[in-house]
Amino acid sequence: MDEYGNSGEGRATRRDEAVRAAVEQGLLGPDSPIVGLLDVTGIRESAAELRAAFAEVTAPGTPVLHAFAVKATPLVPVLRLLREEGIGAEVASPGELALARAAGVSPAETVLDSPAKTPAELREALALGIAVNADNPQELDRIDGLVRSAVSRSPLGIRVNPQVGGGSIGATSTATATSKFGVALRDEGAREWVVRAYLDRPWLSRLHAHTGSQGIPLSLMAQGVAETYALAEEINRRIGRPQIDTIDIGGGLPVNFASDATAPTYAEYARALREAVPGLFDGRYGLVTEFGRSLLAKHGTIVARVEYAKSAGGRAVAVTHAGVQVATRTVYVPGSWPLRITAYDGKGRPKSGPEVVQDVAGPACFAGDLLAEGRALPLLDQGDYAAALDTGAYYFAHHYAYNSLARPGVYGFVPDRATGVRFATVRDPQTLASIVAESGGAHAGALTTLHTPGSR
Ligand SMILES: *Cc1c(COP(=O)(O)O)cnc(C)c1O
Repeated sequence: MDEYGNSGEGRATRRDEAVRAAVEQGLLGPDSPIVGLLDVTGIRESAAELRAAFAEVTAPGTPVLHAFAVKATPLVPVLRLLREEGIGAEVASPGELALARAAGVSPAETVLDSPAKTPAELREALALGIAVNADNPQELDRIDGLVRSAVSRSPLGIRVNPQVGGGSIGATSTATATSKFGVALRDEGAREWVVRAYLDRPWLSRLHAHTGSQGIPLSLMAQGVAETYALAEEINRRIGRPQIDTIDIGGGLPVNFASDATAPTYAEYARALREAVPGLFDGRYGLVTEFGRSLLAKHGTIVARVEYAKSAGGRAVAVTHAGVQVATRTVYVPGSWPLRITAYDGKGRPKSGPEVVQDVAGPACFAGDLLAEGRALPLLDQGDYAAALDTGAYYFAHHYAYNSLARPGVYGFVPDRATGVRFATVRDPQTLASIVAESGGAHAGALTTLHTPGSR
């Protein structure tokens, strides 16, 4: 445990209080059987830890932009909260850019990184002055055209893939030999192409790599950063001046889903980087980071009511309102994305009692819709609540519309002297009218009035 209380005890206490208060205050109940809760105190703590970790290892005065990977939690109030904590935004689509702008994140604190940017997106980013990392030679061609036709303040760079290898989860490993992201550095001729690209374009001032997300060991991440740094050094040496002035090291710090402890910490990662790549921190380079999961995961909880408790083939099954629509990765790939589940009673108090091996099922109509299979927990009864922990990133904000299940409401919370816990709405629960509208409700007759000429 460090100075920020990283054993997570405070976090667990705040969570328990919030679940109880959500039931007491009517956010959760028979008619609103699922919510997402966000621990505002915890989010602020993680943002402060991130800033402190890099402040500790960088030379005084080094410009550092921490850009939150918006895809992890694409909610405007979250982006606004992070902005207040000194964190910008890494965006990868027109939608994410719109969210960052709605949150008031300035262009100078925004980085655009997607692998499939259209000419219109690139034009807008350059007009706004947002930093852009070109993913590939074809994209760099497009940027060439834009740079020739208009002045832009955008810091521009190239994304490279150091191809240092993957981790334990294929879908989140971005530095494999055949990853779709960036210029694959070890491919024949690629490194020389990158060096040439900078030699020919004095306005290219950044170099970017994001070597992967959950499942990548710290040592491999550090190796990816080290290779990126070595390339920047080589380019600047060959050009004979420090043309690359900023290195974007991406995000990807893994999250511990097994307990409340934060592990690894930002401080550990920053120190590991300084050890592996001391030159990166001596003040010659500005830094950009793009953490997503590690900033938000541990501060979100999905709480769902147990609609029915039943038994099948000798197995207890709690049928809840949280399943594939909010925990898509866990339901489809449970081996890679297990979630802790805690049991609360009908008043939102932690349940005790002997543990029983049971399934915690979701509401969707397919057999595999299980939040947890064969999990030992105090037996969940009808009217109890099951909470899926560490779901603040890539879970309840990433709705999957299976069975037309509504997007749950999301509420932020802080401890409060008067009421115990104070809530604020982050996202309203989706209404039935909205489900119909998003499912073509305005075009109900579209297909019956579409006739093949001559068929009637
Ligand atoms: C997804 C992504 C991130 C964030 O990854 P986390 O594992 O959530 O920290 C950062 N940069 C890029 C380019 C990404 O695609």
